[in-house]
Amino acid sequence: MSQPDIQLIRGFKDILPGETELWQLIERTAIGLFEDFGYREIRIPIMEKTELFARSIGEDTDIVEKEMYTFADRKGDQLTLRPEATASICRSYIQHKMYAQDPVRKFYTIGPMFRRERPQKGRYRQFYQIDAEIFGVAAPYADVELILLLRTLFERLNVTDTTAHVNSLGCPACRPRFKQALSALLAEAASALCSDCLRRKDRNPLRVMDCKVPGCREAMKGAPAIIDYLCDACSSHFSTVTDMLTRLGVPYHVDKQLVRGLDYYTRTAFEIQTGALGAQSAVAGGGRYDGLVGSLGGPEVPAIGFAIGFDRLAEIVALNTPAGVRPPDLYIAALGEPARKLAFEWSTALGLNGIGTAMDYGDKSLKAQMKQANRAGVGRVLIVGESELESGTVVLRNMAAKTQRDIPIAAVVDTLIETFTKKEHSIG
Ligand code: ATP
Ligand code: MG
Repeated sequence: MSQPDIQLIRGFKDILPGETELWQLIERTAIGLFEDFGYREIRIPIMEKTELFARSIGEDTDIVEKEMYTFADRKGDQLTLRPEATASICRSYIQHKMYAQDPVRKFYTIGPMFRRERPQKGRYRQFYQIDAEIFGVAAPYADVELILLLRTLFERLNVTDTTAHVNSLGCPACRPRFKQALSALLAEAASALCSDCLRRKDRNPLRVMDCKVPGCREAMKGAPAIIDYLCDACSSHFSTVTDMLTRLGVPYHVDKQLVRGLDYYTRTAFEIQTGALGAQSAVAGGGRYDGLVGSLGGPEVPAIGFAIGFDRLAEIVALNTPAGVRPPDLYIAALGEPARKLAFEWSTALGLNGIGTAMDYGDKSLKAQMKQANRAGVGRVLIVGESELESGTVVLRNMAAKTQRDIPIAAVVDTLIETFTKKEHSIG
């Protein structure tokens, strides 16, 4: 096979027809669900000032330390292709003073994110996320709603092999005690840690818990769990979350080891995991980030959100849902230029009325055109050639029933619109 001179960037990919149908189905399902629950779409830029991500995601995270696509533009401004959506949504919420009238806002956004990771199945450098965020609700009901939405979306997409892992990461009030206990363990385990974690252990010990290096994972097996150090307020928040999940029939698993890769999380953190994708088991992740809006210069507004890995979800959905390509309703086989002109006119008129047609714009034999019609999987073929033009009637053939009927040329468009939209079952 020949290859183009210039190929895709490593870790990037094309999503081709045949796959896009499934992506659209997922998008429609997600949007329908979000809208039912009062979420509104927000569209944020692909690029932001580097500082926004450095400050919100955190200097000691994998994303900021090694994964961002950052460059200086021609004037020397440091810009970054967004690695996630939350920071930008917070920036936008603050910048447009969306908190002024009513701080409670629910958003969703769908689009590409960029992280320079090692590409592998389920891990790309441009990947897509479906993201939802609730601003202005401190109560645990927001947490429960988001986890319920994830569960529901996956169910509607026939993805049932998922588990919601939930944990609480506490708040600034309960973290110091936990950090002390963790630091004690890290001091003992120092010789087993990777070089990144050796640096992190003093600056940001929580990060070590999220390190993917096997040696660090092993060393962290005996680590204390934040959930055992929660203050009363965090503890009661978390029990309301788990109680309500139970009450709504949403299965969950309390995962004491779950920490999330970003610095800004407080209290509830969750991840949807699946066995369907091998090593990349997280198909969605999220959590509460009550301090973030304030730390980015906005008012103290609590918030919580999640991001679904769209690529991973699409890979799972593809395992059990066929892509559902819509074949054209009708193939118009034309013989000779005058017939082709007429056929093209009909084809556009029908298309404008929502009836999908296919035809060949060249000079193919009837046999070749019938072959094309079969390959496209169309149910009906309209045949127009010189003799039809002379007689003033064309032939509509039902491919499955192997029947046919004549239609007067002057009435083709009207007849077909009527038959395809209303009398689908009564035509020959
Ligand atoms: P992971 O642990 O797999 O690296 P993460 O914690 O870095 O995930 P988040 O920042 O929580 O990921 O993003 C939410 C979701 O986005 C993940 O659960 C995953 O499904 C998806 N995701 C993250 N990074 C990638 C990537 N490089 N390629 C494809 N999907 C990704
Ligand atoms: Mg990651």
